Amino acid sequence: MSALAKNYKRKNLSFKKGKGCYLFSTNGKKYLDFVQGIAVNSLGHANKKLNKAIQDQSNKVWHVSNAFKIPESEKLAKRLVKRTFADAVIFQNSGAEATETAIKAARRYFYFIGKPSKTTIICIKNSFHGRTIAAINASGSKKMTLGFGPKVPGFQHFEFGDHKKLKSLINKNTAAIMIETIMGEGGIKVIPNWCIKAIRKICDQKGILLILDEVQCGIGRSGKFFAFEYAKVKPDIVPIAKGIGGGFPLGAVLMKKKISKAMVPGTHGSTFGGNPLAMAVGNAVLDQINSKLLKNVNKMSKYFISQLNIIKTKYPKVIKEVRGVGLLIGLQLYDDQTKFIMKLMENKLLTIRAAENVIRLLPPLNVNKSEINLALKIINKVCKELK
Ligand SMILES: *Cc1c(COP(=O)(O)O)cnc(C)c1O
Repeated sequence: MSALAKNYKRKNLSFKKGKGCYLFSTNGKKYLDFVQGIAVNSLGHANKKLNKAIQDQSNKVWHVSNAFKIPESEKLAKRLVKRTFADAVIFQNSGAEATETAIKAARRYFYFIGKPSKTTIICIKNSFHGRTIAAINASGSKKMTLGFGPKVPGFQHFEFGDHKKLKSLINKNTAAIMIETIMGEGGIKVIPNWCIKAIRKICDQKGILLILDEVQCGIGRSGKFFAFEYAKVKPDIVPIAKGIGGGFPLGAVLMKKKISKAMVPGTHGSTFGGNPLAMAVGNAVLDQINSKLLKNVNKMSKYFISQLNIIKTKYPKVIKEVRGVGLLIGLQLYDDQTKFIMKLMENKLLTIRAAENVIRLLPPLNVNKSEINLALKIINKVCKELK
């Protein structure tokens, strides 16, 4: 009997080590890992440079309080600011904390400029922003909020694509629109560029903030550093997490200067957020998210998606759609995907589900063609078996 609570439906499989794209199970089998901790291990397992960074830092200092200056966090913040729209960063430890902090920063900004009634955050129904009380209420998902007490006020929802409803929701109390640039858990639903542009325009016209949750699609996963770069817009606040830590728990919120100005001493804090160990890893991840790696993401993505579409044509009754951007790829089936995922696993390919019968394929960003070919071979085989 496990002493762990039962809040996960775990597969009967565990691992003793990993290397790059591969995981080696405790019962001696080798798996191609296209889950990568759910888009977390952006550079694969046991990345040499990340291992060295964490080893070197662990011999110096792991943790100091944010009551003191932390040079490693100054460095990572400066680098993130230099590469992006942002002027300032607050470090956290996870995606949910990052989205929570994004919500706090948006509200605090309006409080700071003398508009304290502007607190409402408008989100897409059935989106995903994490599992804290605020984040589940932001998601507007019945399943996630059920049994977790009274509805938290200050969140409103519109259906994906329903801009008419979105516009009708905005009033004098609105603070921000918060959306995932690509809806990950929601089934790899890519928000079209025109749509992101239109939402940016609405925010500008109404004087409200745009929060783009890039926890899953950010840090190179989309083929650009941030997925919103495709739409050529600049958001005001961006929570990140998953990919930036390469497997180490690390989250952050990037924001414009006018917002960071409102986050005066005492408004927010985190015991662990931005500690030297996490920051050393974050810096080492960022070292490797360079133009060469992004080029690989785009090249592999193009190849993977085109080959998956060929499989789709061969098995038109199994695969409904291949969708996604970069190496955030969804294979939407006509039927429930549980059995398909199990079959892939039996054939030594690890994948993970998302909503709308979608199987997520999330290789590390440094995946190569032969690894993708192996995945394609297994997917093809399972299609044939289940057609
Ligand atoms: C995973 C995810 C989160 C939550 O991250 P945690 O680290 O699990 O708290 C928030 N937003 C998006 C878009 C995510 O994919």
